[in-house]
Amino acid sequence: MTKKIAVLPGDGIGTEIVEQAIKVLDFLNTDMNLGFEFENGLIGGAAYDVHGTPFPQQTIDLVKPADAILLGAVGGYKWESLDISVRPEKGLLGLRSTLNLFSNLRPAILYPQLADASTLKPEVVSGLDLMIVRELTGGIYFGQPRGVRVLENGERQGFNTATYTESEVRRIGHSAFRIAQKRHKKLCSVDKANVLECTEFWREIMIDLSKEYPDVTLSHMYVDNAAMQLVRAPKQFDVMVTSNLFGDVLSDCASMLTGSIGMLPSASLDDHGKGMYEPIHGSAPDIAGQDIANPLATILSAAMMLRYTFNNEEAALRIEKAVNDALDSNVRTADIYAAGTQKVSCSQMGDAVVSALKNRG
Ligand code: NAD
Repeated sequence: MTKKIAVLPGDGIGTEIVEQAIKVLDFLNTDMNLGFEFENGLIGGAAYDVHGTPFPQQTIDLVKPADAILLGAVGGYKWESLDISVRPEKGLLGLRSTLNLFSNLRPAILYPQLADASTLKPEVVSGLDLMIVRELTGGIYFGQPRGVRVLENGERQGFNTATYTESEVRRIGHSAFRIAQKRHKKLCSVDKANVLECTEFWREIMIDLSKEYPDVTLSHMYVDNAAMQLVRAPKQFDVMVTSNLFGDVLSDCASMLTGSIGMLPSASLDDHGKGMYEPIHGSAPDIAGQDIANPLATILSAAMMLRYTFNNEEAALRIEKAVNDALDSNVRTADIYAAGTQKVSCSQMGDAVVSALKNRG
């Protein structure tokens, strides 16, 4: 049966890194007869330039019937002065909310070959394998009212609203507990329950949900402590679940444990396993167009697509092992380069992963 994958390279390095992930998926598509059909669309600044909006109707019509979406990144200097309503990042928020992609999985795994690339001591990070589950369609990023207003005394005030409904907390909670069940059965819920009512409510619901998952050990941590613990002793965590804002910050922090933001994939899922897959980094305008970006986060996002949307563990593992083999062969993009390794371009790294797939058979 044909499976449709919508491909949205976006802006900056998006086009370069997505090209490498498509090389990998193309190879497996033929080799394993996966039945994938790819169709490209525009999002972010690239879409704004053509259609005057970062999330045009043509892209909505492409992603809605698709089984999965592979995305590069959006944004760049060129669009920074646009009104916030049409900035590239709005395209991404629109995509997440249109498809109801509420559960964002962000694994942070340290490849042993990169232990020295981490800014933390090898003994602190070696063997690291944690999963951050971030709520993606609620919280302060979407809460109303929001904006800038003028107070009675004439002073201007910026404001946003953090809200979570019970059903929003329950569904992300279920998603996180199920993932913990498939891993080491430890779930840490991160909040700021000592200060914010909205997150005190979050904690209450997580405690209630835990009764349905007696095999999972639930713990709680304030977000400030969680940020500290992530750099102090990250291996204490198995799965972390948290709100949109806290998850955004903590997952970028976790990315540095692994050596480079260019290594971290992500999946954003709806209730039925449909998903959007993208690296956690942005469009890196500072290095765009130079063929030097690290494509491994995007390639590993393709592996997550095979696992979470297409339930094809074998194909997912083939990609993950091929990435490991490529690193074993000592090739490194600039962001993870170290003395004694061979510096390669973005496209050469993509080729190295495809060669590793061929070699393993
Ligand atoms: P960024 O993640 O794009 O870049 C941060 C730093 O990491 C830069 O020095 C960059 O060169 C480096 N980097 C990122 N990805 C890399 C890769 N694959 N290989 C090697 N180095 C890499 O974050 P930023 O600079 O804060 O944002 C740039 C633009 O991206 C902004 O417009 C921002 O809004 C947007 N952004 C988009 C997304 C997304 O599309 N999901 C996420 C974050 C930021």
